[in-house]
Amino acid sequence: MTACGAPVASRAGAPANGTQRAVVYAGPGRAAVGDAPMPSLQTRAAPGVLPRRCDHGVIVRTLATCVCGSDQHTLHGPGAAEGMVLGHELTGVVVETGRDVERVKAGDVVSVPFNVACGRCPNCRAGRTGHCLTTNPARPGATYGMGEGFGGWAGLQAEYALVPYADFNLYVFADPDQARERLLDVALIGDILPTGYHAARSAGVGPGSTVYIAGAGPVGLASAVACRMLGAAAVIVGDFNRERLEHVRSLGFAAADLGGGDLAGTVAETAGVPYVDAGIDCVGVSDAAVAGAGADGATPRAAALNDVIGVVRHGGAISVPGVYPAGAPGARPPLGVWLGGIWSKAITVSTGATPARRYQDELATAVLLGGVAIADAVRATAVPLERGAEAYELSGAGASRKFVLTP
Ligand code: NAD
Ligand code: ZN
Ligand code: ZN
Repeated sequence: MTACGAPVASRAGAPANGTQRAVVYAGPGRAAVGDAPMPSLQTRAAPGVLPRRCDHGVIVRTLATCVCGSDQHTLHGPGAAEGMVLGHELTGVVVETGRDVERVKAGDVVSVPFNVACGRCPNCRAGRTGHCLTTNPARPGATYGMGEGFGGWAGLQAEYALVPYADFNLYVFADPDQARERLLDVALIGDILPTGYHAARSAGVGPGSTVYIAGAGPVGLASAVACRMLGAAAVIVGDFNRERLEHVRSLGFAAADLGGGDLAGTVAETAGVPYVDAGIDCVGVSDAAVAGAGADGATPRAAALNDVIGVVRHGGAISVPGVYPAGAPGARPPLGVWLGGIWSKAITVSTGATPARRYQDELATAVLLGGVAIADAVRATAVPLERGAEAYELSGAGASRKFVLTP
């Protein structure tokens, strides 16, 4: 154990100059690989990072850190600071533990859920770790690598990272060798597999359910896999991206080509009736899209969500993992959500950041023992951290891949 605040440059295997390689925000729409401060249990003010003392934290050496659709929101949104380390999905090895850490040990292989949660507030105690009341001074809910609006915690696309409240936040793999062997699979229990699973469960998916999923990105695919795990009878995934749709078909799900085809027709063909029990919006709307909305503020931007509302049956349920920006206080984004459809069909809707930690124990077991091949399903592709900027470009351009950076 190292005393809190001790220089980290002396850490075994770490660079001696107090800096490390990381993917950083390099201006609107641009990610770059550069030098960033080594993490410490005593964080110092840095771009997008607030100073804090974290005796309850650990330092983790990264084995795998993923690029997510949410990182694209950060890249194109208003909250990023130049030089800030990006990323929020990490699997790694604990190399240093704070004074107050009891359960997690140096050498443990761990998964970091993307929510920064204290484990002590009413929301954390109720399992709502996506809305922790203490880890973000700006509002409930904190995430790594998204700037001060999300709590001011350094990003995880780096060689080393700080994880606060480690005893609560970290999932520790019982067999570290097994986790290393299945690295591309277990890397996905930090965010997208729990997100897909939470989305499917929140939309009431169970044996015999029929489901429409908007978006064939990694989150849409993880949701489809989760629907299958829960026993869904028919799963239709819609997108405009032909390469992604081809992959959807190869996994045995029905694909709705929104560019040329007719969604209602595909639903009727697949489900036998022109509606589904459940809908999942894995698209969302970015801040950038909202900023680009027409001056009259009337341009509908919630196209995916409106499709979902359109095909869900009366009395059905919808979940919305896709992100919708809160907007500045008092300035509500003009999203054009079809509220009348929700109301008249009495649809139950659930939204928000996934409480990823809640599901990690069962999902790690499902992946490691239950044959859930999530890495294949999302085409997880390992890329050296040094090529992180390229991974951002490719994922932003809609590559049919989930990029996993490995230092
Ligand atoms: P992605 O950008 O790779 O995939 C989104 C897909 O949606 C793209 O393939 C795009 O072509 C498609 N699309 C665009 N408009 C569409 C429409 N009208 N109908 C159907 N498809 C459409 O992103 P991803 O990594 O899969 O993430 C998806 C969303 O989930 C993002 O908004 C991301 O921020 C969010 N997310 C939320 C959580 C959470 O906790 N709720 C966790 C992870 C990701
Ligand atoms: Zn993510
Ligand atoms: Zn909390």
